[in-house]
Amino acid sequence: MIYMDSAASTPVDPRVLDEMMPYMSGRFGNPSSAHRMGREASRAVEAARRQVAELINARPSEIIFTSGGTESDNTALRSARGPIVTSQVEHEAVLSACRRLESEGARVDYLPVDGAGRVDLDALREAAPGASLVSIMLANNEVGTVQPMAQISRICREAGAALHTDAVQAVGRMPVDVEELGVDMLSLSGHKINGPKGCGALYAREGARVLPLLEGGGQEGGLRSGTENVPAVVGLGAACKICREEMDGRAARCSSLAGRMSARILELPHSQLNGDPSSRVPGNMHFSFPGVEGEDLVVKLDEYGVAASTGSACSINRQSESHVLLAMGLGRDAVAGSLRLTPGAQTSDGDADEAADAVKRAVCELRRVSPLRAKYGFSGA
Ligand code: PLP
Repeated sequence: MIYMDSAASTPVDPRVLDEMMPYMSGRFGNPSSAHRMGREASRAVEAARRQVAELINARPSEIIFTSGGTESDNTALRSARGPIVTSQVEHEAVLSACRRLESEGARVDYLPVDGAGRVDLDALREAAPGASLVSIMLANNEVGTVQPMAQISRICREAGAALHTDAVQAVGRMPVDVEELGVDMLSLSGHKINGPKGCGALYAREGARVLPLLEGGGQEGGLRSGTENVPAVVGLGAACKICREEMDGRAARCSSLAGRMSARILELPHSQLNGDPSSRVPGNMHFSFPGVEGEDLVVKLDEYGVAASTGSACSINRQSESHVLLAMGLGRDAVAGSLRLTPGAQTSDGDADEAADAVKRAVCELRRVSPLRAKYGFSGA
């Protein structure tokens, strides 16, 4: 299988696994225990906290370990004291939490985006005063568009609103510095950065208001109770350390693979690259091929040995049209015929070329039997 779905998940780096393994067996102590084995586990958790903090230029005391991006997002949103402002292109982890809060009486504004998926800053300027929390993702999980976060944070600061960013797709793939971004809270996830699944973190700037989702033994400074998932936390720390050391090389590699593949794929007539061509997360490619259904394309590519996705694989609601593409104003045929390809640092040039050719072959084959054949002038079967 040629894996082209790194935005959905990534393999655990063998070096990360090596760090995790002892905490699954011999070093199984509970970090809250006072004995030597407990202290050993607690030291490992604190070392991981430092590693996560270093990757995003935070202080270790500002890192709360969670079960992943979804929990981090939910915690941030639930911490809002009053009205919330978010965007129409957020991940479901943010949107669902917002809808729940709305059903409980909160006011939520959903900002529009332009055709490249960039948040409308004038709309933000209008909505931010009076908001308690603004939540705008750093990099979009479907089209990869990176938002102008420093500008967004200036607007929020002037308006007196706290700012959360879902940086699950950005951390480890591009430089993320919480000071430069000027955010108060940030979500990240282990399995997007060659770390374990079911583990992530919420950065909360000192003094930021955080309300715990889980109450209990008071772990994580009382902000996230429950015995720490020590092996996963150690793995997340190790993955962050590797990202710090290797991210530049990986990003350059993923960008070059994406450039190479895009050039090949866009030779197809009636094809387009969606998202912001310049401000996007390295390695993200998102195409529309009118005349095919994205789901059919994914199935055909699977037959050809290529793992790809229409967009968001982190939702089980796969049949519905992409809210991101609709918000960007894409036409129905472009929304239906969408495909996301996200190679990883492990992808070889040969695999990239083979996958690009497979996409072209699959699109042509599906278009031959497409009900939209006449509309676009595709030749028939
Ligand atoms: N936010 C974004 C932008 C994502 O892409 C994802 C997962 O794909 C999540 C949140 C959820 O993260 P997790 O799978 O760690 O819960």
